[in-house]
Amino acid sequence: MSTSTPLRTGDDRRDANAAAVLRAVLDHGPVARSRVASLTGLSASAVSRQTVDLVRLGLLSERPELAGVPAGTVGRPQLPLAVDTEQLAVAGVHFGVPYTTVALLDLRGRVLRRKEIANRGLTGPDVLKPLAARLPRLIDALRAGRTVVGLGAVCGGSVDPERGLVLRHGPLDWRDLPLRGLLQDATGLPVRVDNHARALTQAEILFGHPAARRSMVQLFVGHVVDAALAVAGTVHQGPPSATGDLGHLPVTGTVTDPDARSDARCHCGRLGCLSVAASDTTLFEAAAAAGVTPEPDRAALIAAVKRGDPVADRLVRNRARIIGRALALLADVVNPDLLVLTETFALFDPRYLNVVRAEFALRSHLRRDAELLIAQRRGADVLAVAAGTPVLGELYARPVHALAHCH
Ligand SMILES: [Zn+2]
Repeated sequence: MSTSTPLRTGDDRRDANAAAVLRAVLDHGPVARSRVASLTGLSASAVSRQTVDLVRLGLLSERPELAGVPAGTVGRPQLPLAVDTEQLAVAGVHFGVPYTTVALLDLRGRVLRRKEIANRGLTGPDVLKPLAARLPRLIDALRAGRTVVGLGAVCGGSVDPERGLVLRHGPLDWRDLPLRGLLQDATGLPVRVDNHARALTQAEILFGHPAARRSMVQLFVGHVVDAALAVAGTVHQGPPSATGDLGHLPVTGTVTDPDARSDARCHCGRLGCLSVAASDTTLFEAAAAAGVTPEPDRAALIAAVKRGDPVADRLVRNRARIIGRALALLADVVNPDLLVLTETFALFDPRYLNVVRAEFALRSHLRRDAELLIAQRRGADVLAVAAGTPVLGELYARPVHALAHCH
């Protein structure tokens, strides 16, 4: 939160208490009210009050079928509470370079449905305008009877969540794009925008590895390269929300020769930038140049790797080593509890994650345990999860406020 006031209004305090109850149930549910009280430090009556509100809003439900009534209990059993995953959903859209992903997520961050729409090489308004026009129908087709409470919109590059702007996305040719306003106008839904690496970091904090809440760094390697940082459960934004542009970190190695210096020039004018050395664009072009695939294409390279093509394997391993070097630098600077890598090949084949880990362990001066480095675990759902998370983050931070427009 960018602003703080010493005195909370009654509504803010009520929302903070509601959020505490909701998070306790998310983490420990199905769980009895008495346990929620001890987890949150709230009084039994405060928990009861919040629970009534959260059930009414559709965020929590009582699960009588899970109530074990201990012997000797007198009176109404404590009905366990769980996060409701049947009534509400959040929508999300991820703008990537090859395709746009539209998805519906439940309140536990699980992807209910998703749809990919090829961008066919289009950039700028040519990607956004037709999608915005289709979005209401797409969301309606995906929502499966649930009430959609908001729309998340994420992409790589520099995004300002407070102002709802994409400040800069090089490959999509977006500059100072008022994405939130455009999508709110198109859908009538409240929209929250963010960078996709920050969104994935928030998803890890809410639904993922417990160490993520202490401190974590996320590295996203796709057609763009982004990083995000979180400490004590809060994702760092930084002025002016441009945190995580790791693309110009100088690294050694190329996907064809991990010991060579890159002679490919970045759009920033320099040689050896991580975004050029290790991006999907570079990898897919190298695979096509080597004759592994007929043209630069993700699916074709994945197929080549899966059938054991040795050149494809070498290119992917070389990139994994470059990524391991970048992660070692990041880890040595930040010293996080958890490092999360989002990259296609580490996601589906642990052998490639192990190449990243080995290089990481070799290069890190802190000699940190390579076990702190994990691959993002949502597999093919990863972009869909990123897309919906800005709305889920708001829902778990300020549930009553986030749903004010629904009731
Ligand atoms: Zn550069």
